[in-house]
Amino acid sequence: MTQEQRTPSESAKRRTSVLFATAHEHGLLARCLTVLADAGVNLTKLESRPRPGRAWEYLFYADFEGDAAAPPIAAALATVRERCTEFRLLGSYDVASVEKPAQPLAQSAPSDASSPLPSPPPHPGAKNWPKAARAAKPAGTQLRIGGTVIGGGDFVIIAGPCSVESREQVLATAEAVRARGAVMLRGGAFKPRTNPYAFQGLGWDGVDLLAEAGRATGLPTVSEVMSLDQVERMSRAVDVLQIGARNMQNFDLLKAVGRTTRPVMLKRGLSATLDELLAAAEYILSEGNPHVILCERGIRTFETATRNTLDLSAVPVLRERTHLPIFVDPSHGVGVRRWIRPLARAAKAVGADGIIVEVHPNPAEAKSDADQALTFADFAEIVSDLAEIPRFGA
Ligand code: PEP
Ligand code: MN
Repeated sequence: MTQEQRTPSESAKRRTSVLFATAHEHGLLARCLTVLADAGVNLTKLESRPRPGRAWEYLFYADFEGDAAAPPIAAALATVRERCTEFRLLGSYDVASVEKPAQPLAQSAPSDASSPLPSPPPHPGAKNWPKAARAAKPAGTQLRIGGTVIGGGDFVIIAGPCSVESREQVLATAEAVRARGAVMLRGGAFKPRTNPYAFQGLGWDGVDLLAEAGRATGLPTVSEVMSLDQVERMSRAVDVLQIGARNMQNFDLLKAVGRTTRPVMLKRGLSATLDELLAAAEYILSEGNPHVILCERGIRTFETATRNTLDLSAVPVLRERTHLPIFVDPSHGVGVRRWIRPLARAAKAVGADGIIVEVHPNPAEAKSDADQALTFADFAEIVSDLAEIPRFGA
């Protein structure tokens, strides 16, 4: 149907999103808005963002009722375009396709350091994950864990052993990674292993050792919770609950961590789409826990050269679709020590909020994931590399 063929009430069911920038000149924004108002355009959203690197210049993101192709709107947009230093028509779409049932916009954090651009029209799949959708919190979610803010624009490094193996091992690793720039300590105590005869982790003893190393170094801790009966005790012992890739669609487990107040690091399933990852996050959010971090850790593809295929395109796609912070795990993503460094750099360059990597005092002796364990020296090199890489969107 062309715009001319739409009745007025059908036009009211359409919405348009535009992005524009004006020169720093008194009254220019007001004049643009007046052009739209004179054409009978009803604005439903107007947001401004400072333009990185351009003092006193702002990008404006606006939503309004109606279709960009409707004659009076098209003419008004043409005039606005002439008055702007930059103008992008993001598109026109049916209101019904973006209406979200629940969460009001009012929960927005004060700034959006993690998003280089305002949000585009919400993804149609957002009906499955209204609380996770970017539209529910356009400014993005920021989590404060100990002294660290995740999703606040700074690139955050979490490091530690794949498995906690002993007091000496976890303490030495915690001290080494803290001294080299990690802000959180990881360590598995309940390990999801493909081989049932492989090392399964130290269980609660491992959790206690991880917590002890966290206290000794001042690093908040993250550890995987594998089953429902572990949730309560684990949430008392560590600062962040990890849901592993294999449990991404363990819905009862997701609901159980959703009933805690602990931040949850939700890893993408081996064969999960991004839509399914967001639906899994929604299970946690819908139980009342808003503290969710998504983690891209590689997916199963036909490629066997790497342990998994690290899908770095997930980062910008998720950034558009959700307000939740996004981490990358290059260790499980590639599974090979020497390839972690380039992928860690790429994770920052593509705009992730941080990485989580595996480090061991003596990788050859690691009881799990030895091939991907970084030495302390490898880790130091990665941290110093990352300091030189600009984070996309920062
Ligand atoms: C881990 O982080 O130790 C782990 C097992 O990760 P994943 O669930 O991504 O395989
Ligand atoms: Mn591992």
